[in-house]
Amino acid sequence: MSPALLQLLGHPLEAWKTRGFISQLVHPEDLDRLLEAWGAVARTEEPQTLEVRAVSAEGRLVRLAVELNAIEPSPDGAGELVGTVCVLAPPLQPSRLSLKRAGPPELVAKLRETLDGLPSPAWMVGGDLSIDWCSPAQQGHSAEVMLCAAARASDPQGWAAAHRQALRGETVGFDFATCGRAWRCQVGPLKDAEGTIVAALGVATDVSDLDEVARELTRTQRLHEELIDAIDGIVWETDASFRFTFVSKQAERLLGYPIQQWMQEPDFWLKHLHPEDRDWASAYCLKSAMECRAHEFEYRMVAADGSSVWLRDIVTVVSEGGIPRQLRGIMVDVTAQRRAREALEHTVSLLRATLDSTADGVIVLTPDWHVTAFNGRFQELWDIPDSLLEGRDGRVLSEHMRSRLENAEQVHLRTQQLLASPELEGVDVLELRDGRILERHSRPQRLGDTIVGRVWTYRDVTVERRAQAESERLLREAQEAIRVRDDFLSIASHELKTPLTPLKLHLQVLKHRMASGQPVPAQHAEKALAQVARLSGLINDLLDTSRIQAGRLELRHEPVSLREIAHEVLADLRTVSPQHTLEYEEPDEPLLIQGDRGRLAQVLVNLLENALKYSPTGGTIRVCVERDGAQALVSVSDSGIGIPPDQKAHLFERFFRARNAPISGFGGLGLGLYICRDIVERHGGRIWVESEVGQGATFRFTLPVLEAEAHAPTGLAATPPETAPHPR
Ligand code: ADP
Repeated sequence: MSPALLQLLGHPLEAWKTRGFISQLVHPEDLDRLLEAWGAVARTEEPQTLEVRAVSAEGRLVRLAVELNAIEPSPDGAGELVGTVCVLAPPLQPSRLSLKRAGPPELVAKLRETLDGLPSPAWMVGGDLSIDWCSPAQQGHSAEVMLCAAARASDPQGWAAAHRQALRGETVGFDFATCGRAWRCQVGPLKDAEGTIVAALGVATDVSDLDEVARELTRTQRLHEELIDAIDGIVWETDASFRFTFVSKQAERLLGYPIQQWMQEPDFWLKHLHPEDRDWASAYCLKSAMECRAHEFEYRMVAADGSSVWLRDIVTVVSEGGIPRQLRGIMVDVTAQRRAREALEHTVSLLRATLDSTADGVIVLTPDWHVTAFNGRFQELWDIPDSLLEGRDGRVLSEHMRSRLENAEQVHLRTQQLLASPELEGVDVLELRDGRILERHSRPQRLGDTIVGRVWTYRDVTVERRAQAESERLLREAQEAIRVRDDFLSIASHELKTPLTPLKLHLQVLKHRMASGQPVPAQHAEKALAQVARLSGLINDLLDTSRIQAGRLELRHEPVSLREIAHEVLADLRTVSPQHTLEYEEPDEPLLIQGDRGRLAQVLVNLLENALKYSPTGGTIRVCVERDGAQALVSVSDSGIGIPPDQKAHLFERFFRARNAPISGFGGLGLGLYICRDIVERHGGRIWVESEVGQGATFRFTLPVLEAEAHAPTGLAATPPETAPHPR
């Protein structure tokens, strides 16, 4: 119960609290209407206002304005109506306004007119805080009801204080709510013509809708702010001179500078750009802005802690009539991406470098012949022009490589085989037309469990292959040398032993005869001597060979006549071999040679002995000594077993014996011709052989004739044929 109401009606407070007091208070004619309205408010929760007549303690009828409000159901959603607020107030009429203190009647009339025309409820309160006047009911709520409600429901003390302040000359505002609406009150002093405060004038404005709009605005603004702050980047705006007019909160988190610094520090952006990016980034941004062009670029800024932060800046330009007014954009932190990209680029270039520094040529192809990768060595090995690699077409390259191959068909078949079975691995040898040999390895390229292509590597193995062939040859030669040595040992021991048996026999016969006093036949001594001569010949050959090997075979250098030497040698031989016919064509000049008589004779003897030895069935041995230009030419021909063509080249080598020279009956160590060649060559001449198997052989050698005796050529063709083996 408000004290004002108690005072107005005069009933004691206890009376109000007794049950059924309302039916005593309200005029019987109005009671039903009131109860009915009360019931409706309880049902519908819609507020109602009505007027009733009440009976005061003195029995006076007092008109009351009643406002019924449902007390809100509890917010826990139980929905139960809690109660009803009943506001009872005297329905003050505008006619009650006593504006006599406001001045002359015309002024009062004017004031009333103005106040009555106000769209909002207004009231006037006198010095005793009594309501002097209130405007007609507005929007279904009478001003006085609202004033009471405000006094009661919101802040009675505050309400009174506000009006008192107004009466003291201040303007005071306060808010309150009633009937589901929000109101804003302004109370100020009302002065008369002399400036004396005569009343407090209050005006209430329904701000329910305004509040809603303001709340909505605030809500939207907050939403936007939240959105902007949630963006993982700095949302910003600058004026045309790059001064920040807005920067979102992320700026502080990303770079560590307070927002105020962004906004207040002149040239903040420029100053905090990374020194390496400052010039180009600012120039680029300025140019784009001048051209009113939206742009996007990446640069570094230096954060407050000194670290570099990579930002991707997406900028739009707000312009008017072609003149930039504002820049707006978002800076996104791309440091992590940049670092990842840099790491990736580093890895890729490392791989590239590794691939390029591989000694092998490498190419990687997808199953549909696309070139995924290749290295410089591959291009170099196959001599591939850059233009061929442009299309990255494996087929084009394959054609090019095929044209370089010697064994193209074989390689092609093998390649097809490998391509048909993706799992297959293979190593092949490729012979190139230019003589190089490449080793090709082919393996599937796997990504996890999937085969995504094929890796082909090429290695130039020409040198290795040649070295291998060379070492194989050397091995063969070494084996051959071992065989020759073994043969030599067996032949040498055989050859050395052979003369010993007859020698021993003859010597025993001689000893026996001498002991028994019998005459000693000369033939035994001669035969013994012949075996000794044979033995010493073999030993001499061995000694000569080792001297030649050691470079110690000494030669005399004196003018000797070749005709004479030949003559003497042949004279000795005529008696030795009676079953052979010996023909000798003698030169008509002595043919002087600067040399060693004994050694030259040794050459001729050796050739003659061979001729005899290798023509076992007899036949003619022809010896010809003649001049051929500045050379003396000596030829010894026989009609014996001849020499197989492939053996001719080796005849003059140490220990070499042609395979058609059987050991028995043709004894020899394979040293004679070797010694001959050395002697002839050291005299400045050459020695060679012409022969067919079974057709005999002709050995020839030349020697330079001494200058003093040199004649013009005799016309005899004795130049060694081009194809003749040419011992060195
Ligand atoms: P040797 O006769 O002691 O074996 P040589 O060096 O004199 O050694 O001869 C080497 C080889 O040359 C002989 O073993 C023989 O196979 C072959 N040869 C030499 N002279 C003749 C020839 N006149 N006819 C056929 N083969 C010959």
